Amino acid sequence: MATDSNRFQAIISHCKEYGFIFPSSEIYDGLSAVYDYGQWGTELKRNVRDHWWRSMTQFHENIVGIDAAIFMHPTTWKASGHVDNFSDPMIDNKDSKKRYRVDHLLEAHANELEKEGDANGARAVLARMDELLAASDYDGLRNLIESLNIKCEVSGTSNWTEVRQFNLMFSTQLGSVSDEASEIYLRPETAQGIFVNFLNVQKTARMKIPFGIAQVGKAFRNEIVARQFIFRMREFEQMEMQYFIRPGTQKEWYEFWKEERMKWHLSLGIPAERYRFHDHVKLAHYADAACDIEYEFPIGFKEVEGIHSRTDFDLRNHQEFSKKKMTYHDPELNQSYIPYVIETSIGLDRTVMMLLSEAYTEEDLSTADKQDSRTVLKFPAALAPIKLAVLPLTKKDGLPDIGREIMNSCRAQFKCFYEEKDTIGKRYRRMDAIGTPFCVTVDHQTKEDNTVTIRYRDTMEQERIAIADIKNVVEGKLKLSY
Ligand code: ATP
Repeated sequence: MATDSNRFQAIISHCKEYGFIFPSSEIYDGLSAVYDYGQWGTELKRNVRDHWWRSMTQFHENIVGIDAAIFMHPTTWKASGHVDNFSDPMIDNKDSKKRYRVDHLLEAHANELEKEGDANGARAVLARMDELLAASDYDGLRNLIESLNIKCEVSGTSNWTEVRQFNLMFSTQLGSVSDEASEIYLRPETAQGIFVNFLNVQKTARMKIPFGIAQVGKAFRNEIVARQFIFRMREFEQMEMQYFIRPGTQKEWYEFWKEERMKWHLSLGIPAERYRFHDHVKLAHYADAACDIEYEFPIGFKEVEGIHSRTDFDLRNHQEFSKKKMTYHDPELNQSYIPYVIETSIGLDRTVMMLLSEAYTEEDLSTADKQDSRTVLKFPAALAPIKLAVLPLTKKDGLPDIGREIMNSCRAQFKCFYEEKDTIGKRYRRMDAIGTPFCVTVDHQTKEDNTVTIRYRDTMEQERIAIADIKNVVEGKLKLSY
Protein backbone atom coordinates (compact mmCIF):
# COMPACT_ATOMS: atom_id res chain seq x y z
CA MET A 1 0.00 0.00 0.00
CA ALA A 2 1.35 3.47 -0.80
CA THR A 3 2.06 5.82 2.09
CA ASP A 4 0.74 9.36 1.77
CA SER A 5 3.75 10.89 0.03
CA ASN A 6 4.17 7.80 -2.10
CA ARG A 7 0.45 7.90 -2.76
CA PHE A 8 0.80 11.25 -4.53
CA GLN A 9 3.52 9.82 -6.80
CA ALA A 10 1.44 6.67 -7.34
CA ILE A 11 -1.53 8.80 -8.47
CA ILE A 12 0.67 10.76 -10.91
CA SER A 13 2.05 7.52 -12.41
CA HIS A 14 -1.42 6.02 -12.59
CA CYS A 15 -2.75 9.08 -14.42
CA LYS A 16 -0.06 8.73 -17.06
CA GLU A 17 -0.28 4.98 -17.41
CA TYR A 18 -4.06 4.94 -17.81
CA GLY A 19 -4.52 7.94 -20.09
CA PHE A 20 -5.75 10.59 -17.66
CA ILE A 21 -2.95 13.16 -17.67
CA PHE A 22 0.34 13.40 -19.56
CA PRO A 23 3.20 15.87 -19.18
CA SER A 24 2.86 18.47 -21.96
CA SER A 25 5.04 17.92 -25.06
CA GLU A 26 6.53 14.89 -23.40
CA ILE A 27 8.61 13.87 -26.43
CA TYR A 28 10.61 17.08 -25.81
CA ASP A 29 10.93 16.22 -22.10
CA GLY A 30 7.85 18.15 -21.06
CA LEU A 31 7.18 21.76 -20.17
CA SER A 32 7.30 22.65 -16.52
CA ALA A 33 3.90 22.87 -14.82
CA VAL A 34 1.98 22.33 -18.07
CA TYR A 35 -0.04 19.15 -18.61
CA ASP A 36 -2.22 17.56 -21.28
CA TYR A 37 -5.36 15.63 -20.47
CA GLY A 38 -5.61 12.24 -22.14
CA GLN A 39 -8.74 10.42 -23.23
CA TRP A 40 -10.08 9.52 -19.78
CA GLY A 41 -8.85 12.64 -18.00
CA THR A 42 -10.69 14.74 -20.57
CA GLU A 43 -13.95 12.88 -19.96
CA LEU A 44 -13.55 13.20 -16.19
CA LYS A 45 -12.80 16.90 -16.43
CA ARG A 46 -15.73 17.49 -18.76
CA ASN A 47 -18.08 15.70 -16.35
CA VAL A 48 -16.88 17.89 -13.45
CA ARG A 49 -17.21 21.03 -15.57
CA ASP A 50 -20.75 20.05 -16.63
CA HIS A 51 -21.75 19.29 -13.03
CA TRP A 52 -20.50 22.72 -11.90
CA TRP A 53 -22.14 24.45 -14.86
CA ARG A 54 -25.49 22.78 -14.22
CA SER A 55 -25.29 23.46 -10.49
CA MET A 56 -24.78 27.14 -11.19
CA THR A 57 -26.91 27.91 -14.22
CA GLN A 58 -29.65 25.28 -13.95
CA PHE A 59 -30.16 25.05 -10.19
CA HIS A 60 -30.09 28.83 -9.72
CA GLU A 61 -32.64 30.64 -11.85
CA ASN A 62 -30.81 33.92 -11.37
CA ILE A 63 -27.41 32.78 -12.67
CA VAL A 64 -26.48 32.79 -16.36
CA GLY A 65 -23.24 31.73 -18.00
CA ILE A 66 -20.94 33.43 -20.51
CA ASP A 67 -17.76 32.62 -22.39
CA ALA A 68 -15.49 35.66 -22.67
CA ALA A 69 -12.28 35.81 -24.70
CA ILE A 70 -8.94 35.03 -23.07
CA PHE A 71 -7.41 38.21 -24.49
CA MET A 72 -8.79 41.39 -23.01
CA HIS A 73 -8.04 45.07 -23.44
CA PRO A 74 -4.80 45.70 -21.51
CA THR A 75 -6.40 48.41 -19.41
CA THR A 76 -8.59 45.70 -17.88
CA TRP A 77 -5.57 44.51 -15.89
CA LYS A 78 -4.64 47.99 -14.76
CA ALA A 79 -8.18 48.52 -13.50
CA SER A 80 -8.30 45.13 -11.79
CA GLY A 81 -5.05 45.80 -9.95
CA HIS A 82 -3.22 42.87 -11.53
CA VAL A 83 -0.53 44.99 -13.21
CA ASP A 84 0.43 46.53 -9.87
CA ASN A 85 -0.50 43.87 -7.36
CA PHE A 86 -0.60 40.40 -8.85
CA SER A 87 2.61 39.20 -7.39
CA ASP A 88 3.85 36.85 -4.72
CA PRO A 89 6.68 37.37 -2.27
CA MET A 90 9.60 35.25 -3.44
CA ILE A 91 13.02 34.44 -2.12
CA ASP A 92 15.98 32.95 -4.01
CA ASN A 93 18.68 30.68 -2.70
CA LYS A 94 21.96 32.30 -3.81
CA ASP A 95 23.78 28.98 -4.15
CA SER A 96 21.26 26.93 -6.12
CA LYS A 97 19.57 29.97 -7.75
CA LYS A 98 16.29 28.26 -6.98
CA ARG A 99 13.34 30.54 -6.35
CA TYR A 100 10.69 29.83 -3.73
CA ARG A 101 7.41 31.36 -2.74
CA VAL A 102 7.96 32.56 0.80
CA ASP A 103 4.66 31.22 2.12
CA HIS A 104 5.32 27.80 0.61
CA LEU A 105 8.76 27.60 2.17
CA LEU A 106 7.34 28.40 5.59
CA GLU A 107 4.34 26.09 5.16
CA ALA A 108 6.65 23.21 4.22
CA HIS A 109 8.69 23.91 7.35
CA ALA A 110 5.54 23.92 9.49
CA ASN A 111 4.50 20.60 7.93
CA GLU A 112 7.86 19.11 8.86
CA LEU A 113 7.44 20.30 12.46
CA GLU A 114 3.98 18.78 12.56
CA LYS A 115 5.27 15.45 11.25
CA GLU A 116 7.92 15.49 13.98
CA GLY A 117 5.15 15.88 16.56
CA ASP A 118 5.69 19.61 17.25
CA ALA A 119 2.17 20.80 16.43
CA ASN A 120 2.52 23.93 18.59
CA GLY A 121 5.74 24.91 16.83
CA ALA A 122 4.03 24.43 13.45
CA ARG A 123 1.08 26.60 14.48
CA ALA A 124 3.41 29.32 15.77
CA VAL A 125 5.30 29.46 12.44
CA LEU A 126 2.08 29.76 10.45
CA ALA A 127 0.62 32.39 12.79
CA ARG A 128 3.80 34.49 12.55
CA MET A 129 3.86 34.08 8.77
CA ASP A 130 0.25 35.23 8.51
CA GLU A 131 1.04 38.31 10.61
CA LEU A 132 4.06 39.24 8.51
CA LEU A 133 2.25 38.64 5.21
CA ALA A 134 -0.68 40.73 6.42
CA ALA A 135 1.73 43.57 7.21
CA SER A 136 3.69 43.05 3.92
CA ASP A 137 6.77 42.90 6.16
CA TYR A 138 9.32 41.35 3.78
CA ASP A 139 12.35 41.88 6.02
CA GLY A 140 10.42 40.16 8.80
CA LEU A 141 9.65 37.21 6.52
CA ARG A 142 13.30 36.85 5.55
CA ASN A 143 14.34 37.03 9.24
CA LEU A 144 11.76 34.36 10.07
CA ILE A 145 13.15 32.04 7.36
CA GLU A 146 16.68 32.62 8.66
CA SER A 147 15.80 32.24 12.32
CA LEU A 148 14.15 28.88 11.57
CA ASN A 149 17.30 27.85 9.69
CA ILE A 150 15.26 26.80 6.67
CA LYS A 151 17.48 25.35 3.97
CA CYS A 152 17.16 25.12 0.20
CA GLU A 153 16.31 21.56 -0.81
CA VAL A 154 18.75 21.73 -3.73
CA SER A 155 21.87 23.38 -2.28
CA GLY A 156 21.19 22.51 1.34
CA THR A 157 22.26 26.04 2.38
CA SER A 158 20.39 28.94 3.94
CA ASN A 159 22.10 31.60 1.85
CA TRP A 160 18.96 33.60 0.96
CA THR A 161 18.36 36.80 -1.05
CA GLU A 162 15.99 39.56 0.05
CA VAL A 163 12.28 38.82 -0.30
CA ARG A 164 10.91 40.36 -3.53
CA GLN A 165 7.62 40.50 -5.40
CA PHE A 166 7.21 38.90 -8.87
CA ASN A 167 4.30 39.55 -11.22
CA LEU A 168 2.64 36.33 -12.33
CA MET A 169 1.00 37.50 -15.58
CA PHE A 170 2.19 36.28 -18.98
CA SER A 171 2.38 39.01 -21.61
CA THR A 172 2.45 38.89 -25.38
CA GLN A 173 2.07 41.24 -28.37
CA LEU A 174 -1.19 41.93 -30.16
CA GLY A 175 -0.89 43.04 -33.80
CA SER A 176 1.41 41.95 -36.61
CA VAL A 177 3.37 45.13 -37.28
CA SER A 178 5.70 45.95 -34.47
CA ASP A 179 4.89 49.65 -34.20
CA GLU A 180 1.17 48.85 -34.09
CA ALA A 181 1.64 46.09 -31.60
CA SER A 182 0.62 46.55 -28.03
CA GLU A 183 1.42 44.47 -25.02
CA ILE A 184 -1.47 42.36 -23.82
CA TYR A 185 -1.79 39.68 -21.16
CA LEU A 186 -3.04 36.15 -21.02
CA ARG A 187 -5.81 36.44 -18.43
CA PRO A 188 -4.68 35.33 -14.96
CA GLU A 189 -8.31 34.81 -13.90
CA THR A 190 -11.62 34.53 -15.72
CA ALA A 191 -13.43 36.96 -13.41
CA GLN A 192 -12.58 40.14 -15.33
CA GLY A 193 -14.38 38.86 -18.44
CA ILE A 194 -17.49 38.78 -16.29
CA PHE A 195 -17.01 42.25 -14.80
CA VAL A 196 -16.52 43.97 -18.15
CA ASN A 197 -19.67 42.25 -19.47
CA PHE A 198 -21.72 42.92 -16.37
CA LEU A 199 -24.05 45.47 -17.99
CA ASN A 200 -24.26 43.62 -21.33
CA VAL A 201 -25.58 40.56 -19.52
CA GLN A 202 -27.71 42.41 -17.01
CA LYS A 203 -29.51 44.33 -19.76
CA THR A 204 -29.89 41.59 -22.37
CA ALA A 205 -30.93 38.89 -19.89
CA ARG A 206 -33.03 41.46 -17.93
CA MET A 207 -31.44 40.31 -14.68
CA LYS A 208 -32.45 41.86 -11.36
CA ILE A 209 -30.10 42.06 -8.41
CA PRO A 210 -29.20 39.70 -6.81
CA PHE A 211 -27.99 37.74 -9.84
CA GLY A 212 -24.91 35.86 -10.91
CA ILE A 213 -22.77 35.34 -13.99
CA ALA A 214 -20.83 32.11 -14.31
CA GLN A 215 -17.92 31.26 -16.56
CA VAL A 216 -15.51 28.39 -17.14
CA GLY A 217 -12.25 28.96 -18.96
CA LYS A 218 -8.51 28.93 -19.14
CA ALA A 219 -6.35 31.16 -16.99
CA PHE A 220 -2.58 31.58 -17.07
CA ARG A 221 -0.12 32.34 -14.29
CA ASN A 222 3.64 32.27 -14.42
CA GLU A 223 3.80 30.28 -11.20
CA ILE A 224 7.20 30.13 -9.59
CA VAL A 225 6.68 27.02 -7.54
CA ALA A 226 5.50 24.46 -10.01
CA ARG A 227 6.19 20.99 -8.76
CA GLN A 228 2.79 19.80 -7.67
CA PHE A 229 1.35 18.08 -10.71
CA ILE A 230 -1.98 19.62 -11.76
CA PHE A 231 -2.37 21.33 -8.39
CA ARG A 232 -0.30 24.29 -9.58
CA MET A 233 -0.11 24.76 -13.32
CA ARG A 234 0.92 27.63 -15.53
CA GLU A 235 -2.12 27.08 -17.76
CA PHE A 236 -5.24 25.90 -15.96
CA GLU A 237 -8.99 26.15 -15.96
CA GLN A 238 -11.16 28.10 -13.55
CA MET A 239 -14.88 27.89 -12.85
CA GLU A 240 -15.92 31.25 -11.49
CA MET A 241 -19.18 32.89 -10.57
CA GLN A 242 -19.66 36.53 -9.65
CA TYR A 243 -22.81 37.24 -7.69
CA PHE A 244 -23.96 40.86 -7.93
CA ILE A 245 -25.70 42.16 -4.81
CA ARG A 246 -26.87 45.30 -3.03
CA PRO A 247 -24.09 47.07 -1.11
CA GLY A 248 -24.46 46.27 2.59
CA THR A 249 -25.78 42.75 2.02
CA GLN A 250 -22.35 41.21 1.41
CA LYS A 251 -22.06 39.46 4.79
CA GLU A 252 -25.22 37.43 4.38
CA TRP A 253 -24.47 36.52 0.75
CA TYR A 254 -20.91 35.59 1.66
CA GLU A 255 -22.27 33.15 4.26
CA PHE A 256 -24.87 31.89 1.78
CA TRP A 257 -22.24 31.10 -0.84
CA LYS A 258 -19.91 29.48 1.67
CA GLU A 259 -22.68 27.07 2.59
CA GLU A 260 -23.86 26.58 -0.98
CA ARG A 261 -20.40 25.79 -2.26
CA MET A 262 -19.72 23.33 0.54
CA LYS A 263 -22.98 21.62 -0.38
CA TRP A 264 -21.64 21.27 -3.92
CA HIS A 265 -18.38 19.79 -2.68
CA LEU A 266 -20.27 17.24 -0.62
CA SER A 267 -22.31 16.35 -3.72
CA LEU A 268 -19.07 14.92 -5.16
CA GLY A 269 -19.39 12.11 -2.63
CA ILE A 270 -16.40 13.30 -0.61
CA PRO A 271 -16.91 13.08 3.18
CA ALA A 272 -17.18 16.36 5.12
CA GLU A 273 -14.12 15.63 7.27
CA ARG A 274 -11.87 15.82 4.20
CA TYR A 275 -12.79 19.50 3.79
CA ARG A 276 -12.22 22.57 5.89
CA PHE A 277 -12.66 26.31 5.57
CA HIS A 278 -9.59 28.48 5.90
CA ASP A 279 -10.25 32.17 6.55
CA HIS A 280 -7.79 34.58 4.98
CA VAL A 281 -5.84 36.79 7.35
CA LYS A 282 -4.17 38.77 4.60
CA LEU A 283 -6.95 39.89 2.31
CA ALA A 284 -6.33 40.40 -1.41
CA HIS A 285 -6.39 43.97 -2.62
CA TYR A 286 -10.03 43.66 -3.67
CA ALA A 287 -11.61 41.75 -0.77
CA ASP A 288 -13.42 42.62 2.49
CA ALA A 289 -13.77 38.94 3.50
CA ALA A 290 -12.33 35.79 1.99
CA CYS A 291 -11.90 32.13 2.72
CA ASP A 292 -10.75 28.98 0.98
CA ILE A 293 -12.34 25.57 0.87
CA GLU A 294 -9.45 23.21 1.46
CA TYR A 295 -9.34 19.48 0.78
CA GLU A 296 -6.99 17.02 2.39
CA PHE A 297 -4.79 15.99 -0.56
CA PRO A 298 -2.06 13.37 -0.09
CA ILE A 299 0.23 16.43 0.14
CA GLY A 300 -1.85 17.92 2.97
CA PHE A 301 -4.84 20.28 3.29
CA LYS A 302 -4.75 22.66 0.29
CA GLU A 303 -7.02 25.20 -1.36
CA VAL A 304 -9.45 24.00 -4.01
CA GLU A 305 -11.82 26.97 -4.07
CA GLY A 306 -11.80 30.58 -2.95
CA ILE A 307 -14.89 32.49 -1.82
CA HIS A 308 -14.32 36.22 -1.85
CA SER A 309 -16.38 39.24 -0.94
CA ARG A 310 -14.97 41.64 -3.55
CA THR A 311 -17.02 44.74 -2.60
CA ASP A 312 -17.50 47.06 -5.62
CA PHE A 313 -13.74 47.15 -6.21
CA ASP A 314 -13.73 45.75 -9.74
CA LEU A 315 -16.80 47.48 -11.17
CA ARG A 316 -15.82 50.80 -9.60
CA ASN A 317 -12.33 50.60 -11.06
CA HIS A 318 -13.63 49.62 -14.50
CA GLN A 319 -15.96 52.60 -14.32
CA GLU A 320 -13.04 54.86 -13.47
CA PHE A 321 -10.66 53.51 -16.11
CA SER A 322 -13.22 53.12 -18.93
CA LYS A 323 -15.26 56.22 -18.07
CA LYS A 324 -18.37 54.08 -18.69
CA LYS A 325 -21.07 53.89 -16.06
CA MET A 326 -21.15 50.58 -14.21
CA THR A 327 -24.22 51.34 -12.14
CA TYR A 328 -27.40 49.35 -11.82
CA HIS A 329 -30.81 50.92 -11.29
CA ASP A 330 -32.57 49.01 -8.52
CA PRO A 331 -36.30 49.25 -9.27
CA GLU A 332 -37.33 48.22 -5.75
CA LEU A 333 -35.21 50.87 -4.04
CA ASN A 334 -35.54 53.28 -6.95
CA GLN A 335 -31.81 53.92 -6.57
CA SER A 336 -28.73 53.51 -8.73
CA TYR A 337 -25.56 52.01 -7.33
CA ILE A 338 -22.48 50.00 -8.24
CA PRO A 339 -23.28 46.47 -7.06
CA TYR A 340 -21.12 44.58 -4.60
CA VAL A 341 -19.87 41.15 -5.59
CA ILE A 342 -19.43 37.77 -3.94
CA GLU A 343 -17.18 35.53 -6.00
CA THR A 344 -16.81 31.78 -5.93
CA SER A 345 -13.70 30.66 -7.76
CA ILE A 346 -12.75 27.02 -8.10
CA GLY A 347 -9.95 25.41 -10.07
CA LEU A 348 -11.23 22.73 -12.43
CA ASP A 349 -7.86 20.96 -12.49
CA ARG A 350 -7.57 21.04 -8.71
CA THR A 351 -11.06 19.55 -8.49
CA VAL A 352 -9.95 16.80 -10.86
CA MET A 353 -6.91 16.21 -8.68
CA MET A 354 -9.13 16.13 -5.60
CA LEU A 355 -11.39 13.52 -7.21
CA LEU A 356 -8.41 11.44 -8.28
CA SER A 357 -6.94 11.63 -4.76
CA GLU A 358 -10.22 10.59 -3.22
CA ALA A 359 -10.92 7.84 -5.74
CA TYR A 360 -7.49 6.23 -5.94
CA THR A 361 -7.54 2.97 -3.98
CA GLU A 362 -5.10 0.10 -3.83
CA GLU A 363 -6.77 -3.07 -2.60
CA ASP A 364 -5.15 -6.24 -1.40
CA LEU A 365 -7.32 -9.14 -2.60
CA SER A 366 -4.99 -11.95 -1.59
CA THR A 367 -6.46 -15.21 -0.37
CA ALA A 368 -4.78 -18.11 1.39
CA ASP A 369 -3.92 -19.65 -2.00
CA LYS A 370 -3.17 -16.64 -4.11
CA GLN A 371 -1.56 -13.18 -3.92
CA ASP A 372 -3.73 -10.60 -5.65
CA SER A 373 -4.35 -6.86 -5.64
CA ARG A 374 -6.07 -4.22 -7.70
CA THR A 375 -5.95 -0.47 -8.22
CA VAL A 376 -9.37 1.06 -8.57
CA LEU A 377 -10.61 4.61 -9.06
CA LYS A 378 -13.82 4.90 -7.04
CA PHE A 379 -15.30 7.95 -8.76
CA PRO A 380 -18.97 8.77 -8.25
CA ALA A 381 -20.60 7.00 -11.21
CA ALA A 382 -21.89 10.31 -12.58
CA LEU A 383 -18.35 11.66 -12.98
CA ALA A 384 -16.62 8.50 -14.19
CA PRO A 385 -15.12 8.80 -17.70
CA ILE A 386 -16.93 5.65 -18.85
CA LYS A 387 -20.18 4.54 -17.23
CA LEU A 388 -20.64 1.10 -18.74
CA ALA A 389 -18.26 -1.45 -20.24
CA VAL A 390 -19.79 -4.13 -22.46
CA LEU A 391 -17.66 -7.27 -22.48
CA PRO A 392 -18.58 -10.36 -24.52
CA LEU A 393 -17.03 -13.40 -22.86
CA THR A 394 -15.68 -14.68 -26.18
CA LYS A 395 -15.27 -13.33 -29.69
CA LYS A 396 -17.47 -16.07 -31.18
CA ASP A 397 -20.90 -17.69 -30.97
CA GLY A 398 -22.72 -14.45 -31.67
CA LEU A 399 -21.80 -12.91 -28.30
CA PRO A 400 -20.16 -9.81 -29.89
CA ASP A 401 -23.40 -9.15 -31.82
CA ILE A 402 -25.39 -9.08 -28.60
CA GLY A 403 -22.71 -6.83 -27.07
CA ARG A 404 -23.00 -4.43 -30.00
CA GLU A 405 -26.79 -4.33 -29.58
CA ILE A 406 -26.37 -3.39 -25.92
CA MET A 407 -23.90 -0.67 -26.94
CA ASN A 408 -26.37 0.69 -29.48
CA SER A 409 -29.20 0.80 -27.00
CA CYS A 410 -27.20 2.61 -24.28
CA ARG A 411 -24.70 4.90 -26.01
CA ALA A 412 -27.16 7.73 -26.55
CA GLN A 413 -27.74 7.95 -22.78
CA PHE A 414 -24.22 7.63 -21.38
CA LYS A 415 -20.63 6.86 -22.34
CA CYS A 416 -20.12 3.16 -23.06
CA PHE A 417 -17.04 1.16 -23.91
CA TYR A 418 -16.81 -2.12 -25.79
CA GLU A 419 -13.99 -4.65 -25.47
CA GLU A 420 -13.51 -8.26 -26.57
CA LYS A 421 -9.79 -8.79 -26.05
CA ASP A 422 -8.14 -10.62 -23.11
CA THR A 423 -9.62 -12.62 -20.27
CA ILE A 424 -12.62 -11.18 -18.53
CA GLY A 425 -10.57 -10.78 -15.33
CA LYS A 426 -7.99 -8.61 -17.09
CA ARG A 427 -10.71 -6.54 -18.68
CA TYR A 428 -12.38 -5.96 -15.29
CA ARG A 429 -9.09 -4.77 -13.82
CA ARG A 430 -8.53 -2.34 -16.68
CA MET A 431 -12.01 -0.93 -16.13
CA ASP A 432 -11.34 -0.67 -12.36
CA ALA A 433 -8.16 1.26 -13.09
CA ILE A 434 -10.04 3.93 -15.02
CA GLY A 435 -13.01 3.95 -12.67
CA THR A 436 -15.77 2.40 -14.79
CA PRO A 437 -18.60 1.73 -12.32
CA PHE A 438 -20.46 -0.97 -14.29
CA CYS A 439 -19.31 -3.83 -16.50
CA VAL A 440 -21.74 -6.20 -18.20
CA THR A 441 -20.56 -9.55 -19.48
CA VAL A 442 -22.37 -11.26 -22.32
CA ASP A 443 -22.06 -15.05 -22.07
CA HIS A 444 -23.71 -18.16 -23.47
CA GLN A 445 -26.58 -17.97 -20.99
CA THR A 446 -27.38 -14.55 -22.50
CA LYS A 447 -28.40 -16.29 -25.70
CA GLU A 448 -30.85 -18.44 -23.81
CA ASP A 449 -32.50 -16.00 -21.42
CA ASN A 450 -31.49 -12.45 -22.47
CA THR A 451 -29.67 -11.79 -19.21
CA VAL A 452 -26.12 -10.55 -18.59
CA THR A 453 -23.81 -10.48 -15.58
CA ILE A 454 -23.44 -6.98 -14.23
CA ARG A 455 -20.36 -6.37 -12.09
CA TYR A 456 -20.17 -3.47 -9.66
CA ARG A 457 -16.76 -1.77 -9.48
CA ASP A 458 -16.55 -0.96 -5.77
CA THR A 459 -17.87 -4.20 -4.28
CA MET A 460 -16.88 -6.44 -7.21
CA GLU A 461 -20.23 -8.12 -6.67
CA GLN A 462 -21.89 -9.66 -9.69
CA GLU A 463 -25.52 -10.36 -10.42
CA ARG A 464 -27.64 -11.46 -13.30
CA ILE A 465 -29.97 -8.87 -14.81
CA ALA A 466 -32.10 -8.70 -17.93
CA ILE A 467 -30.59 -6.88 -20.91
CA ALA A 468 -33.72 -4.74 -20.92
CA ASP A 469 -32.86 -3.47 -17.41
CA ILE A 470 -29.23 -2.43 -18.04
CA LYS A 471 -30.04 1.14 -19.03
CA ASN A 472 -32.21 1.77 -15.97
CA VAL A 473 -29.74 0.23 -13.52
CA VAL A 474 -26.91 2.43 -14.83
CA GLU A 475 -29.00 5.58 -15.20
CA GLY A 476 -30.33 5.17 -11.67
CA LYS A 477 -26.80 5.74 -10.35
CA LEU A 478 -25.89 8.74 -12.49
CA LYS A 479 -27.38 11.49 -10.33
CA LEU A 480 -25.34 13.63 -7.98
CA SER A 481 -27.33 14.92 -5.04
CA TYR A 482 -26.96 18.68 -5.42
P1 ATP B 1 -2.92 29.65 -4.51
O1 ATP B 1 -2.84 30.41 -3.22
O2 ATP B 1 -2.94 28.16 -4.34
O3 ATP B 1 -1.93 30.12 -5.54
P2 ATP B 1 -4.93 31.49 -5.25
O4 ATP B 1 -5.47 31.90 -3.93
O5 ATP B 1 -3.97 32.38 -5.95
O6 ATP B 1 -4.31 29.99 -5.17
P3 ATP B 1 -7.28 32.17 -6.67
O7 ATP B 1 -6.69 33.34 -7.34
O8 ATP B 1 -8.25 32.40 -5.56
O9 ATP B 1 -6.12 31.17 -6.21
O10 ATP B 1 -7.92 31.25 -7.79
C1 ATP B 1 -9.08 30.49 -7.58
C2 ATP B 1 -8.85 29.02 -7.79
O11 ATP B 1 -8.15 28.78 -9.02
C3 ATP B 1 -7.97 28.36 -6.73
O12 ATP B 1 -8.73 28.01 -5.60
C4 ATP B 1 -7.46 27.15 -7.45
O13 ATP B 1 -8.38 26.08 -7.38
C5 ATP B 1 -7.35 27.62 -8.89
N1 ATP B 1 -5.95 27.94 -9.20
C6 ATP B 1 -5.29 29.09 -8.92
N2 ATP B 1 -4.02 29.02 -9.38
C7 ATP B 1 -3.89 27.80 -9.95
C8 ATP B 1 -2.82 27.12 -10.62
N3 ATP B 1 -1.65 27.72 -10.80
N4 ATP B 1 -3.03 25.88 -11.09
C9 ATP B 1 -4.23 25.26 -10.93
N5 ATP B 1 -5.28 25.85 -10.32
C10 ATP B 1 -5.12 27.10 -9.84
